[in-house]
Amino acid sequence: MMVTERLYYSDSHLIEFEARVVDVTDRVSGWTAIVLNRTAFYPTGGGQPGDTGTLNGSRVVECIDDGESGVLHVVQGAAPARDAIVRGRVDWPRRLDHIQQHTGQHILSQAFVTLFNAPTKSFRVMETSCEIDVELNNPGTEIIERAVELANNVIWEDRSITIRNVTPDEAADLPLRKEPAREGELRLIEIEGFDLAPCGGTHAYRTGEVGMIAVRSWERAKGLTRIEFVAGTRALADYRRANRSAREIAAMFSTGRDDAPHLAAQMVEENKELHRRIRVLEEVAARVEAIELLSSAKANTDGTRVVAHVFEARDAECLKKLALALIANPKTIVLLGSRDKDTARLVFARAADASGDMSALMRDACVLLDGRGGGKPDMAQGGGKNVTKLNEAIEWTAQSLSGS
Ligand SMILES: [Zn+2]
Repeated sequence: MMVTERLYYSDSHLIEFEARVVDVTDRVSGWTAIVLNRTAFYPTGGGQPGDTGTLNGSRVVECIDDGESGVLHVVQGAAPARDAIVRGRVDWPRRLDHIQQHTGQHILSQAFVTLFNAPTKSFRVMETSCEIDVELNNPGTEIIERAVELANNVIWEDRSITIRNVTPDEAADLPLRKEPAREGELRLIEIEGFDLAPCGGTHAYRTGEVGMIAVRSWERAKGLTRIEFVAGTRALADYRRANRSAREIAAMFSTGRDDAPHLAAQMVEENKELHRRIRVLEEVAARVEAIELLSSAKANTDGTRVVAHVFEARDAECLKKLALALIANPKTIVLLGSRDKDTARLVFARAADASGDMSALMRDACVLLDGRGGGKPDMAQGGGKNVTKLNEAIEWTAQSLSGS
């Protein structure tokens, strides 16, 4: 004799019931858990989350299947005493959601079997969507959408869903979609003319109640195809999110929703082309800027010209281009810095006929910037987060060059 009679087995839509408390325990990590002689609460299992609701007004936050020992109702607030008669109420929107996802899974899984002989190996209801792992080798939009279309047709044909209890011998002669996971009498869920599978979950009365199924994405995972889908109210919520995203993007292009993808693709191409042109222009600008900087540079006693300058908001690549343009001129040493957001950047370089170890100078300068740097004797790069010391780092390096 089972401790708890499971009312959800015979009626998945029963949400109010009366029961007697047979045990009050704290064996769920110190929480108070109630065991009843009968319950409409579905405990977590088979890929389906458990129900929530109330027992005599106290919140039932979790439901756990304890096998032969019954169903544990974890309660927050006042707990009823042993032998008390309590009134239970299951949260219907959550139960309906689970019915839609779970029944939707039966239908979608059978669609993959019918069309592609591809059985489902596992199933999970997640926060906003669900997953099935299917033995499908070549997933593609057309393959997936054919299964989605068949599944939705079965939903809209509003077929009946019935429960059959059979012995293992009777089950052996039936075309079950999957092997039973348990011994003894089996509970089979039959979708009229479409699917027959052993299952202990909560299901719709008719397929129409599932509403619709949509696939969000798929990927190959561990030799299977992992398919993310939504059914019922989740499909509507997902449509709303997708539509909002698509409309927001379309608004940026001042166009209709369905015209946005090709305009976005166009913009990405234009952006690439602009970057190519900017790179060419940067090189031209660097050569012109190099001439200006050189003309104002002071020469040391040995005739070496030191160009020292700090820029605003130039990245390392830009500084390096300018440095290369400058050291194309003989007897030139370049000390360039940039304040790029919260980072100080440095590039030191010298012409082949100038002397000095840029790498050693860079390491010393970066100490001032709380950063790091290095490179070769003729070209070094570095930086740090102490942006306020950037001018000082450049001046100090210029002085140490003129002193040597
Ligand atoms: Zn099921």
